[in-house]
Amino acid sequence: MKKIDSKIPEGPIADKWTKYKDKINLVNPANKRNIDIIVVGTGLAGGSAAATLAELGYNVKAFAYQDSPRRAHSIAAQGGINAAKNYQGDGDSSYRLFYDTIKGGDFRAREANVYRLAEVSGNIIDQCVAQGVPLARDYGGLLDNRSFGGTQVSRTFYAKGQTGQQLLLGAYSAMNRQIARGKIDMFNRHEMLDVVIVGGKARGIIARDLITGQIERHSAHAVVIATGGYGNVYFLSTNAMGCNGTAAWKTHKRGAFFANPCFTQIHPTCIPRSGDYQSKLTLMSESLRNDGRIWVPKKMDDVYAIREGRKKPTEIAEEDRDYYLERRYPAYGNLAPRDIASRAAKERCDAGFGVNATGEAVYLDFSSAIERYGKEQCKIHGIENPSKEEIIKRGEKIVEAKYGNLFQMYEKIVDENPYKTPMMIYPATHYTMGGVWVDYNLMTTIPGCYCIGEANFSDHGANRLGASALMQGLADGYFVLPYTIGDYLAADIRTGKISTDLPEFEEAERVVKERLEFFINNKGTHSVDYYHRKLGKVMWDKVGMARNAQGLKEAIEEIREIREDFWKNVKVPGGMYEMNNELEKAGRVADFLELGELFAKDALERNESCGGHFREEYQTPDGEALRDDENYAHVSIWEYTGNPNEIKCTYNPSEEIMHKEQLEFKDIKLAQRSYK
Ligand SMILES: Cc1cc2nc3c(=O)[nH]c(=O)nc-3n(C[C@H](O)[C@H](O)[C@H](O)COP(=O)(O)OP(=O)(O)OC[C@H]3O[C@@H](n4cnc5c(N)ncnc54)[C@H](O)[C@@H]3O)c2cc1C
Repeated sequence: MKKIDSKIPEGPIADKWTKYKDKINLVNPANKRNIDIIVVGTGLAGGSAAATLAELGYNVKAFAYQDSPRRAHSIAAQGGINAAKNYQGDGDSSYRLFYDTIKGGDFRAREANVYRLAEVSGNIIDQCVAQGVPLARDYGGLLDNRSFGGTQVSRTFYAKGQTGQQLLLGAYSAMNRQIARGKIDMFNRHEMLDVVIVGGKARGIIARDLITGQIERHSAHAVVIATGGYGNVYFLSTNAMGCNGTAAWKTHKRGAFFANPCFTQIHPTCIPRSGDYQSKLTLMSESLRNDGRIWVPKKMDDVYAIREGRKKPTEIAEEDRDYYLERRYPAYGNLAPRDIASRAAKERCDAGFGVNATGEAVYLDFSSAIERYGKEQCKIHGIENPSKEEIIKRGEKIVEAKYGNLFQMYEKIVDENPYKTPMMIYPATHYTMGGVWVDYNLMTTIPGCYCIGEANFSDHGANRLGASALMQGLADGYFVLPYTIGDYLAADIRTGKISTDLPEFEEAERVVKERLEFFINNKGTHSVDYYHRKLGKVMWDKVGMARNAQGLKEAIEEIREIREDFWKNVKVPGGMYEMNNELEKAGRVADFLELGELFAKDALERNESCGGHFREEYQTPDGEALRDDENYAHVSIWEYTGNPNEIKCTYNPSEEIMHKEQLEFKDIKLAQRSYK
């Protein structure tokens, strides 16, 4: 059995990273040229890592299933990226970002990693500005900030509502320079389907060319998994349709432990579901909560009148509106963290106050902000006694400058003008804090296999604060992994090229091929989506925003039944050696069907509520998450004990072995979270 060693360096928290870097082994420039690294995934985490490792001199092979790194799911990130620059002079510091992140994650993250993240956060902004990323600036030309949930300072850097896209273009340009130099070999439209272990170390991957269907072997001295989160296990989520857990899950089956699978973030501000046949949910960025106020009517009569179209939300008087976040959490108001804001919306909707036909929607209203900005603008422009129209016109212009593309997106989807009528929003699955377990070096329990970005169990504990995922992905890729991987590779300078003719590659390729052949030959009766939808429903109903022991036990059974039926009756049209989206999906859903069960088991084993993991049995009298620090201040780490070479899954992931990494809080006192 492998031992859990998080390899946290000794010493005071503020010195750990600096001192650690001074002592680690280095690879000299000439030797770097003889070392190959595979980076799977070229979103913000993988893209920044690939570019930096190549810049350092390593030979990088990078893989992505999209047709370009520019299309990684990171492109969807809207609101911003955190960094403790204190440009606003509002009292920010590395310590405050560290503190907010630990508290925001409900004290379920590793202190040393989070401090390092806060410490390097400022470098990310400098790096991106140097790359030419057009982060928003104020009227004087200085970088601007806004606020995100769970903080009382403004530390979020942004590029309108397209922050991820702009940051990704920065990383992509840095990658392109290395592709042109021949230091990165870019494999677009390639999907990793297994990791190859030789002599106990990660030495390569098996990938499928998604255009030709050919199966390929690729070797390297180390493998970096940067393949994003597994939120699509819920079928409906704000994630891109292709997001999947396959690379992480396959790595898990080959020996990488999986941490806190049940820690998932349900984002409070998404466009509500409109019917049963929807396959995608759309996020409305958290940045909107800087200016949008969330409410439902106070009176049931108004709720019915709105649902039946007899009243418009704009006709509800101010005193008849329940700004429930401002009411319950006066200190943070509409900027309460996501887990809290989501549960509060669910609580109001469960109580019957949901404002759309499904009863699952609350309002996000910009009228106060429009009026406030409008009055300010009139004052600035010396307009005495402005008319209401003048105020609104000028206020809308400011709101448009801040969030224009988000408003446009909302109007296109819902066909309502959010400048004139409040947006409707409801929580939806958004981000996975759980993932592949990594130590301080970002190495998994497989030597030589690293995991970065959303794919690892990361620094966010049980709830990620808004704008911290981009920070973590870029911190991992630009500033952490490039150091830590060198420490490991220093022992590999004499190894020479890794042959792909080794029996381990042959065996892994056989397994991948036989599994694909199974899908093509199965000729079942139901589509892959049929199973994915069924899994998603169980996950949302029983392993979603609120969970209880009974529901979780049922979920484990039901997921098992769906999985068994899947392996008997799934139907995948088309062939193997051609472009075949259904075949791609089949492999991903097969993995979700295993991951989903472990997810439910993990939620069942954690007999407490913390962050996004809300167990109905464990709540305070006023309905807040009730942690149990005595018994659960640990990371739950799962070890796969089945046979990774089996073609059809016969193993029940809820039988995995659980290990614990005890979390120590030396620099922040464990306390009940309060945003009141
Ligand atoms: C709608 C939306 C808005 C968001 N807004 C913000 C925000 O404003 N601020 C913030 O901090 N966070 C935000 N997030 C979260 C953040 O965008 C993600 O956590 C982050 O971008 C993930 O980056 P990544 O590099 O880890 O993964 P991704 O960007 O998902 O990249 C994954 C990469 O892995 C590749 N890949 C996956 N599987 C395989 C495989 N098997 N083989 C080969 N390649 C593979 C993909 O092709 C891709 O290149 C948002 C998330 C969503 C859904």
